[in-house]
Amino acid sequence: MTDQRSSLDRAAELREEPGVLDRLRADPKTRVIAVRDGRVRVVDSAMLRVSPDDIVEADWALLGRDVDGTVLLLASLPAEPATVDSTPDEIWLGLRDLGGRIDPAETERLIAAIAVAGWLRDAAFCPRCGGATELRQAAWSRRCLVCERDHFPRTDPAVIVAVESADGERLLLGANANWGGRMYSCFAGFVEAGESLESTVHREIEEESGVTLASLRYLSSQAWPFPRSLMVGFRAVVEDEATARPDGEEIIDVRWFTRDEISTALAGDGPVGLPGPASIARALIVDWHEGRV
Ligand SMILES: [Zn+2]
Repeated sequence: MTDQRSSLDRAAELREEPGVLDRLRADPKTRVIAVRDGRVRVVDSAMLRVSPDDIVEADWALLGRDVDGTVLLLASLPAEPATVDSTPDEIWLGLRDLGGRIDPAETERLIAAIAVAGWLRDAAFCPRCGGATELRQAAWSRRCLVCERDHFPRTDPAVIVAVESADGERLLLGANANWGGRMYSCFAGFVEAGESLESTVHREIEEESGVTLASLRYLSSQAWPFPRSLMVGFRAVVEDEATARPDGEEIIDVRWFTRDEISTALAGDGPVGLPGPASIARALIVDWHEGRV
């Protein structure tokens, strides 16, 4: 868990400068993170930063400034043409491949780059009238050319919850139907329109695991770029452990784990898999396991 200030200066003041992306692309000191289909180019477990001149065709956005003041742009590349042969290019990796192998500051840049690239790719038309839009503010907004409404890369909140027993000695995790049966994780779900975070936690946990909650509290959050989510992490205490049961649709099994069992799974031993190192789900599990509050 982190309560650290971001190390990426988003340089919001630059977004208002007319033609700022053209100016920054012409500056030889500018560096670029290129994203294609949710993947970035990686060399030796580090995200590659290239010169703007190395990019032939892309949609551009300003990501911000690195700690040393270097301006960082996003280049969202078109999908590879189908005519290119299908040999996997191993240096293009996504967040799930890279999670935990690059440091948290780089992970933050990676998530921002993938999230904004997805918006540039998917949101070309006005959701109100269907009109064409024009990028503004260094590609952090679009204005509809027909109805003149402004649109922004919205973030969808979702809750993710570590549910513990009343005595704090066991953790309730669920196996999602899409995970193949071996993987267990915290319960999670999107906030619906008109719903508070707290209401979402109570609803999702009851729907997916059958238990009701005696208490809950916020711990931390993490941006997640699929497509642009904000995972809001909670710890909750169950009212009655015995009521735990899977919903049978999204969740195919729920199970109470002791700290010893979580130790084994975190070490990668035994039959149970846990979420990957870049995820807030794993951070919530590790925090509970280590007795952090
Ligand atoms: Zn419109």
